[in-house]
Amino acid sequence: MKRLTAYALFLALLLTGCGGSADPDTAQESIQVIAMDTAMLITTYGERSPAAAYAAEDVIRDLEAKLSRTMEDSDVSRLNSAGGQPIAISQDAFTLLRQAERCRIQTGGAFDPTIAPVAAAWGFAGGEEYRVPSQEELAALLPLVDCSAVFTDSQLPEGEEYNTAGQYEGEIRYTASLAPGQAIDLGGIAKGYAADILVRVFQEYGVPRGLAQLGGNVLAWGDRPGGTPWRVGVQDPAKPGDKNAFAGVLELTDSFAVTSGGYQRYFEQDGKRYHHIIDPATGYPADSGLTSVTVVADAFKTSQPCMGALCDAYSTALFVMGEEKALDFWRGCRDMEAGEPLFQLVLVTEDGRVVVTEGLADCFTLDEASGYAYETVS
Ligand code: ADP
Ligand code: MG
Repeated sequence: MKRLTAYALFLALLLTGCGGSADPDTAQESIQVIAMDTAMLITTYGERSPAAAYAAEDVIRDLEAKLSRTMEDSDVSRLNSAGGQPIAISQDAFTLLRQAERCRIQTGGAFDPTIAPVAAAWGFAGGEEYRVPSQEELAALLPLVDCSAVFTDSQLPEGEEYNTAGQYEGEIRYTASLAPGQAIDLGGIAKGYAADILVRVFQEYGVPRGLAQLGGNVLAWGDRPGGTPWRVGVQDPAKPGDKNAFAGVLELTDSFAVTSGGYQRYFEQDGKRYHHIIDPATGYPADSGLTSVTVVADAFKTSQPCMGALCDAYSTALFVMGEEKALDFWRGCRDMEAGEPLFQLVLVTEDGRVVVTEGLADCFTLDEASGYAYETVS
């Protein structure tokens, strides 16, 4: 028996050690996708890598067509122009609106997708010119920022019922409505949700390893060829123009990593910088002392089927909340099944520190040239 095992191992080494296109672990496809307002790069490995990469592109385009704020026929655009009337929406939009409301509640309103009218006043909705709105203008718009006023519903056809497991195989009708004057923008959560769907695509196509970079949302799937973790850079927020300037590097397998920062989209006026993450409490770009927040979580959390979406929403919310509240939030979010924190954090602060939660201490390496001071917290 032992000899057989050794022989099998020898054979396996012989088959995999020589590389080339016959090796399913090194057969690779890389495609660039311009979608959801960002340049994405999807790299898949395995025998079915081309089919998997193109299937990933398809689901991203499908999601964009439903969730885009600028495409006229998207669920979001139709909802925003429905004048408060209920309309039919896709299951994806329904799921995401429910997750977004959950995140609003959890973060005490720091994440709120009904920030859209305020973001538009600053010119961050796309299309308009950037501008600094007046206090009065913001004060008039802030009452519209309240995701709890967004109504969502799911209904089965007349006479149909869910089975005892709470499931229904047929077509469910999903509807949503906003309060009059409200508008939503799922830009702070949609890419993370796309990463959740890519997990399912990669599973379906048997992708052994891959890397999906959806703007600031990364899905590090499996490990790199050769068995080392994927290396995901945390950009130096102080050098927004230099894509090669990093605060540090994360070594990750089977993880989501999502970064939000004020350096990603901004304009300058009278020497002051205004960025695209808005504090719903003030209507102004968040000014919390953080320059970026990276949220890292296990991509296989069975207890959380939308972990990618949560990482995305949390990265935006924690950027708004600031260091102290962000770390309190981290301490309060536990995965009850695994008995550990639900996610880990890398915070970059305005005063030159990189703060890393203890679960990442072994995976994060500070870039010494960045000049940041390094701290871990528990
Ligand atoms: P990005 O999507 O640009 O990588 P984020 O995930 O942090 O970065 O999302 C920022 C986007 O989310 C903004 O462009 C805007 O559409 C939206 N947004 C801004 N502020 C908030 C907020 N407080 N809550 C929810 N969404 C927000
Ligand atoms: Mg986000």
